[in-house]
Amino acid sequence: MEIRELLRGIPKVDELLKLPALEEAELAAATVREAVRCELEELRAGILRGAVAELPGSEALCGRILERCRRQQLPSLRGVINGTGVILHTNLGRACLSQRAAEAAYDVARSYSTLEYDLERGGRGLRYTHVESLLRKVTGAEAAMVVNNNAAAVLLILSAMASGGEVITSRGELVEIGGSFRVPEIMEQCGCRLKEVGTTNKTHLKDYAAAIDDSTRALMKVHTSNFKILGFTESVALEELVALGHENGLPVIEDLGSGSLMDLEQFGIHGEPTVQNSVRAGVDVISFSGDKLLGGPQAGIIIGRAGYIAKLAHHPLTRAMRVDKMTLAALEATLRSYAEERALEEIPTLAMLGAREEELRAKAQLLCDALVKGGVEAQVVAEQCQVGGGSVPAQLLPTFAVAIAPARCSVDELEQALRLRERPIIGRIAHDRYLLDLRTLREEDFPAVETALFEVLS
Ligand SMILES: *Cc1c(COP(=O)(O)O)cnc(C)c1O
Repeated sequence: MEIRELLRGIPKVDELLKLPALEEAELAAATVREAVRCELEELRAGILRGAVAELPGSEALCGRILERCRRQQLPSLRGVINGTGVILHTNLGRACLSQRAAEAAYDVARSYSTLEYDLERGGRGLRYTHVESLLRKVTGAEAAMVVNNNAAAVLLILSAMASGGEVITSRGELVEIGGSFRVPEIMEQCGCRLKEVGTTNKTHLKDYAAAIDDSTRALMKVHTSNFKILGFTESVALEELVALGHENGLPVIEDLGSGSLMDLEQFGIHGEPTVQNSVRAGVDVISFSGDKLLGGPQAGIIIGRAGYIAKLAHHPLTRAMRVDKMTLAALEATLRSYAEERALEEIPTLAMLGAREEELRAKAQLLCDALVKGGVEAQVVAEQCQVGGGSVPAQLLPTFAVAIAPARCSVDELEQALRLRERPIIGRIAHDRYLLDLRTLREEDFPAVETALFEVLS
């Protein structure tokens, strides 16, 4: 058909709206009208590009319009099934909350709460009391506070403690965290000057000592969470740095990044420092994220000596970085899991880190068997996965995945079809196969994964 003829054949919006399939759909009239308009516009553009040789029938058109309405009604921010094996996937929202933490957030979201109300006195209370004593208890620090995220925490600490002066940091620790959050630039933003010492691979105590002068306000350590320098390296032990700082009347601050409260050696992950270790070493102010290895909500946790924490709490920036009630409720519940020594069972991030290979293999076999039974060609394969979230960059964890090599479509088409579902499934592609990694895939996700694969591959 000729282009002009095709264009003339495009149905009118009002004609389409009268079709029973659309008129009887239980959808807002405005939603349907908008979808019809978009669909016809796309059709017109397709014809003009020469990509449409034949006009679709009204049934096909209605199907497309209803599908468009359905997609438009889905929340943009919604849950996905993580089959990537990356436990703290920053793009997928980092840590999943524990059941307990999610319920706590839900409860305060839906009702009035004790957010800033002291029940004993029947009057105004403090927003941060809900987590402060728990944080002291689980970390061993004298005092604690919370802001929106760890980037905010670092900004606050440097602004309140070092503005107008210099902060001494090792050249081996001048990291960029991502999203252009770079230690040197943050310092500038906070009105302090960075004094770099040592070299990329080696920094000695004497390097710090030689750099101290009247303008020094603090010594800073940054955990190089997202990269690792290997080979001929040396950095200064925390205890030595603390001793040097205190001899000179200077605070020692540390950006711990991931901030694990658990010794990850038990999961075969080496060299990730614990928060408690920094507290024991005497670091004056320590900050870390709530949604990395801690396994809680997005937050920037600051702990340390009471005098410094009080100074931070009263800084004007603190108000601008304040966390909301849902975050505090989720954080309190997460910290309670640690305080009650139930973290390994209750916190998904830790359960995923701690899952044993036999367990993962058995889970993979379970899913694989169900898929094979439904006619999908699948196999269990031994793989390796990452922790993610800029944590533990140099180590891969052993894992098991279900691998699918689709017969009737390409691996990329399969990946896309699963990704575009109402409950999106995000997997990874390796060696021309689609992989679903059981380190992050949960058993509660299995029915949805099975249904999706049966639908897509049939
Ligand atoms: C992740 C990270 C940050 C940023 O933490 P957010 O909670 O994402 O703001 C800061 N410093 C280090 C070393 C990190 O690893």
